[in-house]
Amino acid sequence: MQIIENYIGGKLLKPVSGEYLDNFNPATGSVYSQIPDSDQRDVEMAVEAAKNAFKKWSETPYEQRSRILCKIADLIEENLDRLALAESTDNGKPLKLATKVDIPRASANFRFYGTAIMHYASKSHYMEGNAVNYTMREPIGIAGCISPWNLPLYLFTWKIAPALAAGNCVVAKPSEVTPMTAYLLSEICIEAGLPDGVLNIVHGLGPKVGQAITEHTEIPVISFTGGTVTGKNIAAIAAPMFKKMSLELGGKNPNIIFADCDFDEALKTTVLSSFANQGQICLCGSRIFVQREIYDKFKDAFVEKVKKLTVGDPLEQVNLGAVVSKPHQEKVLSYVELAKEEGGVVLAGGNKVTLEGRCKEGYFIEPTIIEGLDYKCRTNQEEIFGPVVTLTPFDTEEEALEMANSTQYGLAGTIWTSNLKKAHRVAHELKSGIVWINCWLLRDLRTPFGGMKNSGVGREGGFEALDFFTEPKNICVKL
Ligand code: NAP
Repeated sequence: MQIIENYIGGKLLKPVSGEYLDNFNPATGSVYSQIPDSDQRDVEMAVEAAKNAFKKWSETPYEQRSRILCKIADLIEENLDRLALAESTDNGKPLKLATKVDIPRASANFRFYGTAIMHYASKSHYMEGNAVNYTMREPIGIAGCISPWNLPLYLFTWKIAPALAAGNCVVAKPSEVTPMTAYLLSEICIEAGLPDGVLNIVHGLGPKVGQAITEHTEIPVISFTGGTVTGKNIAAIAAPMFKKMSLELGGKNPNIIFADCDFDEALKTTVLSSFANQGQICLCGSRIFVQREIYDKFKDAFVEKVKKLTVGDPLEQVNLGAVVSKPHQEKVLSYVELAKEEGGVVLAGGNKVTLEGRCKEGYFIEPTIIEGLDYKCRTNQEEIFGPVVTLTPFDTEEEALEMANSTQYGLAGTIWTSNLKKAHRVAHELKSGIVWINCWLLRDLRTPFGGMKNSGVGREGGFEALDFFTEPKNICVKL
């Protein structure tokens, strides 16, 4: 049994409570590690360590900070197989996905911000009257970074890397459901020579550790990725304290397929955008709107392809692994029942999958397609965050847009058409922070990433994240 420890002040420490929580492997249903059941006392120690480290780290030349962050990127790469296996074991995702996407991206996050900081220049403005303004971008202090379970190390590092690059110290909490790669990252940071206290990782439950980070008066900046309800709770605490906040929240993303699309490309990519990572990516397209002329053709081809997807042991060559936990499996399946009550017809899947052997107690769900639902029903409005998509026909562009924009969310949307004018027009009208035209999940780390409406506040990515983790100070000099 592997025991995970907190990483505070450069050391691997037991929680003050001395208590540990079981951590399950969702593919087998068995406990494979234990994590600290930390509380406000551990967060307090982490804040102390970060405070002690801040002055030196913020004054460390950026070339030196860059070298350390790039060293962490190298070590993540060198440990690719070990980290990918840990991610798959913790989360249930196929090992090949963790090896190809999650871990390389975690390394890329450190390299991206390790190098971006070398090019992050201040602005200056000469003004009439013979004066110059220049704007300093100063590190803020201690950043609180809280991340979810769906892309554990990928999203954890997406926050930590820019916060550290900009000269802040960090108190971070990974999801209690998937803590292992964050723990392995603490070992890597020690090996890379990250100074003590610059990054502190406190493991445990959201309502204890996450809440203590959010409430802490000496953490002036919070970067959070997770559900909209949790985000609201964080905002309610942090806003009256005037904390700077970046909130990356839920989605219910539309995938609009026009009759004039490249059919084969749209079909192939829609299988991925629906079911990659068991549908547990905030960017998955869970509402598929198909123009009526090709609706039946698309439906038949889509159902045929989806029925061929394999669900099984994540360590084997499968398309879908396990969903992250038993409660999550139950939640996703309850939405299939709700969809039936709402008049939906299940065209594929809809059930849990029971496997033989090592994975017989694992949490697996068939990739599921449902049609026949009103676009305003709960199944089409609430985030399910699993391998469940709905198919809905539309006639006109206006109708597609009305349905696409009808939810409380506005994270990402996908458009399939060969008409360039229409593509731009619809992209412009979609109420979402990210739009993909004739592709999905093509990510350039320099672009602003985030959602509108209840999908979040603020943007990550590129220099936006460095702006977020720094305070601008304007200085005016009369010449
Ligand atoms: P979650 O339940 O909101 O948890 C996210 C993180 O917040 C976890 O570390 C969680 O800890 C912690 N937390 C829970 N309660 C807290 C509290 N009261 N105060 C502070 N922190 C607290 O979300 P999840 O189920 O892990 O992740 C799925 C959600 O994330 C989906 O809605 C998905 O759309 C969203 N997501 C959004 C993006 C994006 O970029 N917009 C990306 C990925 C995922 P515990 O795990 O220990 O409870």
